[in-house]
Amino acid sequence: MQTVALFPIQKTKHSKLHEVDINNAPFGKVFSDHILIADYVEGKWRDARIVPYGDITISPATSALHYGQSIFEGLKADRHINGKNICLFRPEANFLRMNISAERMCMPSITEEIFIGGIRELLNLDRDWVPTSQGCSLYIRPFMFATDPYIGMKPSQTYKFMIFTSPVGAYYSAPVKVKVEQHYTRAVKGGTGYAKFSGNYAASMYPTKLAAQQGYDQIIWTDGQTHQFIEEAGTMNIMFVIDGKLITPATGDSILKGVTRDSVLTIARQWGMTVEERPVPVAEVIDAIKTKRLQEAFGAGTAATIAHISVIGHEGVDYTLPPIHEREFSNKVYRELYDIKHGIKPDPYGWVHVL
Ligand SMILES: *Cc1c(COP(=O)(O)O)cnc(C)c1O
Repeated sequence: MQTVALFPIQKTKHSKLHEVDINNAPFGKVFSDHILIADYVEGKWRDARIVPYGDITISPATSALHYGQSIFEGLKADRHINGKNICLFRPEANFLRMNISAERMCMPSITEEIFIGGIRELLNLDRDWVPTSQGCSLYIRPFMFATDPYIGMKPSQTYKFMIFTSPVGAYYSAPVKVKVEQHYTRAVKGGTGYAKFSGNYAASMYPTKLAAQQGYDQIIWTDGQTHQFIEEAGTMNIMFVIDGKLITPATGDSILKGVTRDSVLTIARQWGMTVEERPVPVAEVIDAIKTKRLQEAFGAGTAATIAHISVIGHEGVDYTLPPIHEREFSNKVYRELYDIKHGIKPDPYGWVHVL
């Protein structure tokens, strides 16, 4: 399909496509040929352009490096089952969320034309970078950061917005062993947890490292005030099936509103399952495990879609959860989302852009 480009495009003269095996790429280390760049100057996004992917130079005083005005998004494109088309999953949701993050960080909102139009144009250009083998995807990383060369503590007046893409291998997500965190906090009421803001991730690394030293893959974050309520699992939203009901923490300002979370809840409701979005006490989950009423527990996020939780550590005790093959809902919803994302099943929700 031939479309008129929205942006000036400078094509690479040296495609790297044949130097890498896009169907066996290590996560996050291989980048496609082109990148979109736009500059925010004097109150407007200017010069949105697509150029060959490469290093950039910045001033040592670049504001984002010192004070952290930096936000990002993450979404995926998959190869359609027909082998030709590309399926882009719910970019509108990421676009809206990016601007929610931007507002919290005093950063300018990006336009739909640049965000979604930019992704579509990049995919058009680098469509051969979308992996063909099963389970592999093209990961799309839009991000924005402050660029004023100024170390005064105030919002920057200039920003860069960029989008690059990266072929990622089949994300075989081994079931994860998680620890209920009762000391450290990822996010608090009134804080930045609902924003995809880079500082949130920096702050979570140390507690995650300590948990890893104790043999856990991830942390189950609890509320910052009491540590009695479950919030998220690592960088994923968390869900439980207890007594046949799908239960997940209600989102607020300390929980990131995941697109995968919303997709899973939408499908569950469509299937007629009881869905509860509400505060989830740690004690309720531990009790449900002890009384064998907890059937499933999993993380939900773009990287893995569904990450089964096999063990929950709480106050020094490791609780082993039911075996993965017995988990009816999470296995079925994984398959359903996979089928919708690859054009195997019709998409009744209007989620997929077929390019
Ligand atoms: C990105 C992210 C998620 C998952 O969001 P998706 O849109 O489903 O990828 C959940 N929690 C945190 C903290 C995140 O950064």
